Amino acid sequence: MLDGRMMDFPLTLTHFLERARQLFPRTEVVSRRPDKSLHRHGWAEVHARASQLCNALTKLGVKRGSRVATLCWNHTQHLEAYLGVPAMGAIVHTLNLRLHPSELAYIGRHAEDEVVIVDRTLLPLLAKFRNEIPSLRHVIVVPDDGPATPEQGHDYEKLIAAERPEYAFPTLDERAAAMICYTSGTTGNPKGVVYTHRSCVLHTMAACMRDSLGVGEDDTILPVVPMFHAAAWGLPFAAAACGAKLVFPGPHLDAASLVELMAAEKVTVAAGVPTIWLGILALLDAAPKTHDLSSVRSMVIGGSAAPAAMIDGFAKRHGLEVTHAWGMTETNPLGTLSRLTRSFVGQSDEKKLAAKASQGITVPFVEARHVGDDGKPLARDGETMGELEVRGPWVASSYLGGEGAEKWTADGWFRTGDVVTIDKEGYVRITDRSKDVIKSGGEWISSVAIENALMAHPAVIEAAVFAGRHPKWDERPLAAIVCKAGQTVTADQLRAHLEPIFAKFWMPDDFLFVEQIPRTSTGKFLKSKLRDQFGDHLMPK
Ligand code: AMP
Repeated sequence: MLDGRMMDFPLTLTHFLERARQLFPRTEVVSRRPDKSLHRHGWAEVHARASQLCNALTKLGVKRGSRVATLCWNHTQHLEAYLGVPAMGAIVHTLNLRLHPSELAYIGRHAEDEVVIVDRTLLPLLAKFRNEIPSLRHVIVVPDDGPATPEQGHDYEKLIAAERPEYAFPTLDERAAAMICYTSGTTGNPKGVVYTHRSCVLHTMAACMRDSLGVGEDDTILPVVPMFHAAAWGLPFAAAACGAKLVFPGPHLDAASLVELMAAEKVTVAAGVPTIWLGILALLDAAPKTHDLSSVRSMVIGGSAAPAAMIDGFAKRHGLEVTHAWGMTETNPLGTLSRLTRSFVGQSDEKKLAAKASQGITVPFVEARHVGDDGKPLARDGETMGELEVRGPWVASSYLGGEGAEKWTADGWFRTGDVVTIDKEGYVRITDRSKDVIKSGGEWISSVAIENALMAHPAVIEAAVFAGRHPKWDERPLAAIVCKAGQTVTADQLRAHLEPIFAKFWMPDDFLFVEQIPRTSTGKFLKSKLRDQFGDHLMPK
């Protein structure tokens, strides 16, 4: 064998921070505060402030491998922690502010957080669990709505103002931990996923590819997805790597505030979960042409299935392009992404839309297969359903603390828990979460496919299909429906809408009209709650 003769240069996030400072010092990072004021810093300033933060953290005793937690909305200080903490060799741990205090206490204890950076507006939440994390030594308060008092903790701005804006960032091992994100599992305790510098860097390179998210220097990126949800899908790192402009929405995630921000800052790429986009679509439909979103070239939607009707509605009614992506906390998170390959040239609009609404094809270096109950790979025929398994350099190899080892196969694949079909072109279609599948008389029914069809009905804004217990068939589909404001629809009308699309046994046995669909902390339908509430709806009383 001939050894290669190339440098073994470590793939660390520090490089992105340095590059952004050196090449794009004035490109802005814009943050919206709770009072809606906008604050602007250039990348050079972000670098300087991140260095000041690292000097301050060093004085507070933060060392290599120390966990620095964040309990923050999306904003510049959060970005400084994202980039600075890993660059000094410590680990940034994002806490999900939508979780219950008891879960946050568990996660903070499990991760052994030593410092927490918290928004002043979120101090009441921190107060509910802070004393339950014995390792927690320091609280640094981001003064988002006014200065912090000494009783509340160190005021972030005062703390860093006292420090030098340079930090001697160490040379790190690319396999060192950079970030910990916990899964938002609805069953069992959340699990810690530990990203390495290497996994984040490689993920960034793949995310920036044109066939992928295609992020570049001339983009203005709005991560609506919270920075506590799977590293905001890697967008802060991608922005630093390219020197793109970043726009952070702070706590203002309602459709009107987002649309206004997108138009004002001329956002080109925005990313969030379907609920956010459903709200934005409804707003644009109600007042078309009121908002100038002509700068937007891609709206990245992931976290749960983007309904085809929404993708189509954005394109046809507003000229806006959706990029549908699939990923998991365990995959850093990007795994697949739906773009139309050249094989779709000349195909019908219907086929193209179906492909765009699928979860798409794997990005380079993520490999996917789907397997049956016996663990054997299934046919890529677009019909056979099985559990999706993935592997790659930004796929977790275990959880922090070694829990949940059964999620990995003996031959090194990660079991995603998603039930999918894969077609011959490689397009993955999620039909369900394995814990949400509906098995009626031994046959699988895809809740996601039925939801998609229901959300194409003009009176329906949201639909969740879940398993109801049934005396004869074990389980039968039930549909929870949320109507658009001021609209109504009957169960018979919905049945008539579905009839031409699905086999009879796929038809929901009943339609339950609700005010809202219960959701998880990351915006997914919480079907376990629907099952708790309505699971016996079809059983004899
Ligand atoms: P999380 O770790 O919170 O990001 O959750 C990951 C899970 O979200 C996946 O295993 C899927 O069940 C679901 N998910 C993510 N993206 C999509 C998508 N585009 N379509 C359908 N489900 C998705």
